[in-house]
Amino acid sequence: MAEETIFSKIIRREIPADIVYQDELVTAFRDIAPQAPTHLLIIPNVLIATANDASEAHEQALGRMITVAGKIAKEEGIAEDGYRLIINCNRHGGQEVYHIHMHLVGGRPLGPMLSH
Ligand code: AMP
Repeated sequence: MAEETIFSKIIRREIPADIVYQDELVTAFRDIAPQAPTHLLIIPNVLIATANDASEAHEQALGRMITVAGKIAKEEGIAEDGYRLIINCNRHGGQEVYHIHMHLVGGRPLGPMLSH
């Protein structure tokens, strides 16, 4: 059983976060340390620790994360220029918070997909 992270507290609104969207499946909020003019995180309300833990039972929530990303990108005015959706997994992926999350980053040209 995965341990809850700070993101569960954000979903339950127990700690402050700049939540821009929430429904029965997902929550989206601004990253506390933005790495681009637009940087949000979209997470399932249910705790899935990493991409390795995703199962068929999670497909509705995982699919919703992408449709919500597109909706937020339009609202943020970055849809036409484009943006990047990133899910980091475990150590080599650079995952820091073990509640699966999709980064939505944009607002400037993002350069090559991998730095090296
Ligand atoms: P990752 O490295 O993919 O696990 O990304 C974790 C992200 O969560 C980082 O971009 C952090 O800046 C962000 N983060 C951590 N704590 C918070 C928080 N309390 N509110 C918003 N974003 C957070």
